Amino acid sequence: LDRLRPVLDGLGKAFEDAGHELALVGGPVRDAMLGRAHTDLDLTTSALPDETERILERWGDVTWDVGRAFGTIGCRKGPWQVEVTTYRTDAYDADSRKPDVAYGDTLAGDLGRRDFTVNAMAVRWPGRAFEDPYGGIVDLADRVLRTPVTPEQSFSDDPLRMMRAARFASQLGFDVAPEVVAAMTAMADRIEIVSAERVRDELVKTICGRWPRRGLSLLVETGLADRVLPELPALARERDEHQRHKDVYEHTLTVLEQSIELEERLPGGGPDLVSRLAALMHDVGKPRTRKFLDDGTVTFHHHDVVGAKLTRKRMKALRFSNDDTDAVTQLVELHLRFHGYGSGEWTDSAVRRYVRDAGDQLERLHVLTRADCTTRNQRKAARLRRTYDDLEERIARLSEEEELASLRPDLDGNQIMEVLGI
Ligand code: ATP
Ligand code: MG
Repeated sequence: LDRLRPVLDGLGKAFEDAGHELALVGGPVRDAMLGRAHTDLDLTTSALPDETERILERWGDVTWDVGRAFGTIGCRKGPWQVEVTTYRTDAYDADSRKPDVAYGDTLAGDLGRRDFTVNAMAVRWPGRAFEDPYGGIVDLADRVLRTPVTPEQSFSDDPLRMMRAARFASQLGFDVAPEVVAAMTAMADRIEIVSAERVRDELVKTICGRWPRRGLSLLVETGLADRVLPELPALARERDEHQRHKDVYEHTLTVLEQSIELEERLPGGGPDLVSRLAALMHDVGKPRTRKFLDDGTVTFHHHDVVGAKLTRKRMKALRFSNDDTDAVTQLVELHLRFHGYGSGEWTDSAVRRYVRDAGDQLERLHVLTRADCTTRNQRKAARLRRTYDDLEERIARLSEEEELASLRPDLDGNQIMEVLGI
């Protein structure tokens, strides 16, 4: 918080001079307590948006008001980006997909309508008085997510908060209080009134968090995943012919974790949404395509193609961009291709086709396929990794040769002589 002091002392004074309260709230307070610094600051004030705008225009470099309908005015000053929102109070229309906006007049009232106690702490400026009416600091120390009011009340006010519980579990690695899990389980179907875009944004943050297994298993355990990403719990129900658990679901989470380890080799480093989604969806075709053979084994007929179709359908329903949808779908469709490689029958043109079909997704395909090489059998996994090393070496060699070839003229010596008539 000391780092924020210079900038907020000035801003707090500007609001005080105008007769208003100002407080830092939510993410930046929580993260400051966790020792993580923000340059994006969320603040709340007793001032109405017009007044906030006047104050910020005098104080900062650039001001914007895209969030005005929700009471938010944004402003940048040097490296700092601040968003100042007028105090809010509880006011939700049970049938609406978005919470209505109603302004409140106290900080305490504003904090009481926030999602989790660790997000309901504030520091008032000027003076830096710490406000924590719901014991957020204790929950932060215990690393647990709890709601300021009862979870039933909170989730009927805004069901998206159930998704946010999974998101913060994944980002912070916190536990979710048992009563919160119970309410999520009981109220999971309410998520259906929330717009696909809001659900998607929280899902993206869950998948891109540092501990995605935590958030995703919470979604599966509470039944929320059945509403927002049903392909995932379907994997947990996958069983073989003896009704033994096949653990495709567990395998999927392991592949996701392995692919996160490999993210640093991707151009943008991590977290990489496309790569993570591809890991999560790579086997979703399995439940639909499994066949039992006479010898008692199970095979999955073209689960890559079916998986790609299911992936596209889900990502469209969640309103992902076309680029992300195409990229993830392509990876799911190609993730099995490598399994034909070990037999030594891939010609140079098969390797070239692999590179061409992967296109821009080649690096991610390397990550996904390598992550998928993990199996419980360590020896087999090591052998698969070596085989993939071999494939990557061949790709490198071929593209080097192609580069050389592209430097050579299209015509050979005989053709040149023919053209010139010599
Ligand atoms: P991040 O670092 O990911 O931005 P954050 O805590 O700032 O995390 P935001 O989604 O930006 O999360 O929300 C800012 C704050 O607003 C939260 O800390 C929380 O107090 C409050 N908030 C946001 N969405 C909701 C919601 N749906 N219900 C209640 N409170 C919410
Ligand atoms: Mg934020």
